[in-house]
Amino acid sequence: MSYRRFRRPTRENWTVDQWVAWLKSQDFTPSVTPAEVGVCAICRAPTPIGSQGTHFARCFPCNSQYSTVLTGFIPICYSVHEGLEGALWRVKNEESSGWLQLPLASLLWTFLNNHLKCIEDAYGGPFDLGVTVPSSKQRNGLNHLDDLLSCIKRWPIAWRQGVLTKTRRESAAERRQRIVPDLFAADSDVNGKRILLLDDTFTSGGTMASAAHALRDAGAACVIGIAFGRQLNASREEARDLLAELPQRPLDLETCPVHGLSDFDLFLMS
Ligand SMILES: [Zn+2]
Ligand SMILES: [Zn+2]
Repeated sequence: MSYRRFRRPTRENWTVDQWVAWLKSQDFTPSVTPAEVGVCAICRAPTPIGSQGTHFARCFPCNSQYSTVLTGFIPICYSVHEGLEGALWRVKNEESSGWLQLPLASLLWTFLNNHLKCIEDAYGGPFDLGVTVPSSKQRNGLNHLDDLLSCIKRWPIAWRQGVLTKTRRESAAERRQRIVPDLFAADSDVNGKRILLLDDTFTSGGTMASAAHALRDAGAACVIGIAFGRQLNASREEARDLLAELPQRPLDLETCPVHGLSDFDLFLMS
């Protein structure tokens, strides 16, 4: 696989707003708009058209499995191979691309400042904790997402490190569209808590749903996922229209997937 290279801007010490402006100029972060037509109410991937001639409200893995552990999922952007996916892969795997943490942390910070309240209103109230999905990649003694969060001091949500641990490496066969119940273990102090669960990307959804399963197993009251990118699969026919539209869809931090929607609106839609 070969991903696009990103050239580091020469100025140091940019503000959050300057990093977000840089991201906008790179054109690889198309926003997910509220109540998209024809996308899954949980994971926001395009759904096929059923025999009634209308799109299914949920995709198959969400309907059959993920909705049992994930109350909702909020992608900040859609992601494609040559775009956001490449940036997320580089920041995770390449030491020399570590600086990409800065624009990504700035994006997340701005998104949460603008929309955390929307997400809480849509899914039944304030979060108690933010938790990251652990990865095998460590930076500065932290998993790569906790390290990214450490770029910014004050967040609108209380992130807590070390809540989830990965019990083992999953096999390739497990990295499919299903929950692996023993892939993660969660600290018992999540009991009764409402949790925002951050991963960098959502591709098949199996990793995030497996992490959500561990949190629910430890007693979490509710888990809402969030990711920088909702990866779109270009080989799926139902994704074609949305993929064609992405180049005309710049990063818009004024909106989010549940902008202006109440939990009742979401109930009606799903
Ligand atoms: Zn889905
Ligand atoms: Zn919003």
